Amino acid sequence: MLVKKDFWAMICRGRKKKIVTLLIILIFLINALMYVSLELYNTVKRKRDKDIWYKSLHFDDNSYVDKTGMRVVVGHYVGGSTGANLTDEVINSNNYAPVAGAGEGGRPVQLSQRELITARDLYSLHSYNILVSDKISINRSLPDMRSESCKNVQYNIENLPTATVIIVFHNEAWSTLMRTVMSVILRSPEQLLKQIILVDDASERKYLGKDLEDAVNKLNKVQILRSTDRKGLVGARLMGARHATGDVLVFLDAHCEVTDGWMEPLLDRAGSDDVFICPHIDLLSEDTLAYTKSIDAHWGAFSWRLHFRWLMPFGEVLLKKTENPSKPYPTPAMAGGLFAVRRSLFWRLGGYDEGMIIWGAENLELSWRAWQCGARVEITSCSRVGHIFRRHSPYKYPGGVSKVLNSNLARAATVWMDEWAEFFFKFNPSVAAIRDEQNVADRVELRKKLQCKNFKWYLENVWPQHFFPTDDRWFGRIRNDRGGCLGVTAGTPGLGGPAAGIQCGSDFEIEKLLLYTPEGKIMADEGLCLQQGNGRALWKSCSDNPKQTWLQKGPRLKTKGGLCLTLVLTNSEDGVGDPLTAKRCVKDGGQIWHFERVPWR
Ligand code: UDP
Ligand code: MN
Repeated sequence: MLVKKDFWAMICRGRKKKIVTLLIILIFLINALMYVSLELYNTVKRKRDKDIWYKSLHFDDNSYVDKTGMRVVVGHYVGGSTGANLTDEVINSNNYAPVAGAGEGGRPVQLSQRELITARDLYSLHSYNILVSDKISINRSLPDMRSESCKNVQYNIENLPTATVIIVFHNEAWSTLMRTVMSVILRSPEQLLKQIILVDDASERKYLGKDLEDAVNKLNKVQILRSTDRKGLVGARLMGARHATGDVLVFLDAHCEVTDGWMEPLLDRAGSDDVFICPHIDLLSEDTLAYTKSIDAHWGAFSWRLHFRWLMPFGEVLLKKTENPSKPYPTPAMAGGLFAVRRSLFWRLGGYDEGMIIWGAENLELSWRAWQCGARVEITSCSRVGHIFRRHSPYKYPGGVSKVLNSNLARAATVWMDEWAEFFFKFNPSVAAIRDEQNVADRVELRKKLQCKNFKWYLENVWPQHFFPTDDRWFGRIRNDRGGCLGVTAGTPGLGGPAAGIQCGSDFEIEKLLLYTPEGKIMADEGLCLQQGNGRALWKSCSDNPKQTWLQKGPRLKTKGGLCLTLVLTNSEDGVGDPLTAKRCVKDGGQIWHFERVPWR
């Protein structure tokens, strides 16, 4: 019989058991939870590390590819990168050793932690990842980035002109250069490719000697011209062009890869009109050599300092391009490295300005000359070529980078820009200082001989969306009653950002000055326009957006909806750093703007 005491003992034992069981389950659950979260953390971390592994290759962290993957800033060189001390043996050796499958289909190549250290040490040699390039076959396959409408265009190859492809190089990597050459051979119709001319611009690397010759000798149609003195890209390209026999000259940089069908649209257009026709330039990552598509609607132009810029066309150009995506569209300027032109037209328009040394400004000079002297500059999205955009120039600039760039810019501006040259010189004293040293008499003569149009015509007709001052645009400083000025805050990205009051500068501080157009646009350098945002006003790429209209009503600037541009004093006395916004108009100094004109020429 069960007595009361035994009964309670049993209950207790039962409860203890339950508690112990519960405890075990709980410990198990906690462990499981910890395990799962640890795994989760590791996966995320692994993924993140995978995405950014190559970031450690760089010596600085400036971002230069915008959200859409489009490189906004190209050709703004900030000097060579500093790397490890490399031995002559390392600098002069060719370590091309393709790994099966690496980089095929334009996919990225990743490196082990150990290789990464070497890659970083070697980065300064070429300003791209040579270790990755050496692993990828020079015959690798690439994706086809053309739109369907482009793929459907039929070209009558019999009727197309022939091409001479000219590739100039100075100390380029062997694998990158040869991959450029092989991509052309593999993807150009045999009967259209007349010759490939490689121009060696006084390279010092051993592997570009016999190694390169041996490789080239195995190929048909490829020849090497060598310059013993450093000519720069203009001199080198001219050397190639003088040896060309094809109907059309096709220029490529030495770190490009062309894709299927690239040549036909270029030859078709170059053969049929007076036009410098550029392919759509896609991106070859300088870190992984992955081939990625660059943004569809882009065109080339330049900033107030004459830095080449990729911008987004808008208005009619964009409309036409969208309506007919396989049709070439005009561009105010070309990037410079990649284009095709009929040989006869190239020479008729004066080739290149031979006074331009090493690198820079030749693309703007050629673009202005083409447009102003009766030809055109266009881009065709049906021809896709990948190019490694680099953030640093890896080679030497005899005489110094700025001296080289400034003298080229001075030449281009003096010959082609008329009163806008004065604008440029006025705000760029270091270029102005050497303008008189330039002997451009023959180029001025050429302009006369060709009866070229003026720069005003160019701005109005070729680049109506430009952001340069003109006679009917006001130019100067817009000062708020409270003290601060209207202007783009330093560090605002190319795509724009929130607007704030800035410190007012002097008459010669170009980045503190603005345009005010008769349509009511407040424009800054780099094609930024002040735009009414949700709350905060923004600096945004100039477009047709009606929120970029500010109507001057007395000392006030009003939106179309009647709100007043207001500097909201929050942190400071003069509004510097404080937000700009469109608000109901009231009696407030933050809404009063003083226009201080600055002569621009
Ligand atoms: N280049 C040359 N001589 C020079 C400078 C450049 O032959 O003094 C070549 C260079 O090797 C490349 C082309 O010119 O093939 C364009 O130069 P780069 O790629 O540096 O210009 P980017 O594409 O960065 O504007
Ligand atoms: Mn290049």
